[in-house]
Amino acid sequence: MRPSCPSGYTARIPTVKPKPALYLVATPIGNLADITLRALEILAGADILASEDTRVTRVLLERYAIRRNPVIYHEHNAQEAGMRLLNALQSGKSVALVSDAGTPLISDPGFKLVKKARKADIPIVPIPGPSAVITALIPTGLPTDSFFFCGFLAVRQVARRKRLEILKTIDSTLIFYESPHRVSRTLVDMAEIFGANRPAALCRELTKTFESVYTSTLSALSAAYNKESHPRGEIVLVVGPAEDNIPTCNIEATDRMLLDLIQNMSTAEAVRKVAQMTGQKKKVLYTRVIELKAQQHNEI
Ligand code: SAM
Repeated sequence: MRPSCPSGYTARIPTVKPKPALYLVATPIGNLADITLRALEILAGADILASEDTRVTRVLLERYAIRRNPVIYHEHNAQEAGMRLLNALQSGKSVALVSDAGTPLISDPGFKLVKKARKADIPIVPIPGPSAVITALIPTGLPTDSFFFCGFLAVRQVARRKRLEILKTIDSTLIFYESPHRVSRTLVDMAEIFGANRPAALCRELTKTFESVYTSTLSALSAAYNKESHPRGEIVLVVGPAEDNIPTCNIEATDRMLLDLIQNMSTAEAVRKVAQMTGQKKKVLYTRVIELKAQQHNEI
């Protein structure tokens, strides 16, 4: 097979029959050139190709001149289609599973099948490639040493806010998938619960023509994307870790704010105002005011 790749070069994909196994194959999240040679080999050579959305998969296959018909496996037919795929695997066939985009099982179908296949001692082979979670994380400038993938939040506000309350103290970068229609409401909830000043990034249309990554604070993003101007396209929200609360309002700036305000108002009132403006905890700010007052006293 000699597929013509999007950038114009020609790659030689050997038609090899993969060993019997369930192959979990990552596919592009936008740019069709983002696929590995190994993924193409498996898509071309597996006995069965199962896809969440056969129309999307056909576009990819056509691009690489792979002529075959995928079978459908999605959330709604997972029971019956899963049984058929499992039977095929047990009879020694190789099955390649793809979602409509990115890595299968990551907020996409496949988990139930993998669980059953593992129970049945069927070899399972991941074929790595793109996923929006990692693609969004790496250009944000937010810490990458520890991150927590939160998937999609609940659509209902009560459940969504409850989940955010649980996530707010996690000392890692948080990554959320979100629909463009819900993102403004989610940003409002996040700014309220995580703190207005918590650093965050809105990553849109990754790997596509109108790719953008906006980094700011939750309150600024929330102000930019309100009900009237919600962003279009596919979106990932990345939120800096709980302890990274202060970068846009550093310690010196917080100190200056506190010192200014206590000239004209009570300590409690100054702390309340700075907490509101920066999203920092009142208890932390109160301790800081005491320290600043003591320093001033010593200087005099
Ligand atoms: N399995 C996919 C993966 O590995 O990333 C995720 C599938 S999930 C149903 C779809 C969500 O992923 C979108 O709503 C969006 O939050 C995110 N997403 C997928 N592609 C994206 C892209 N090109 N740019 C930004 N976000 C994307």
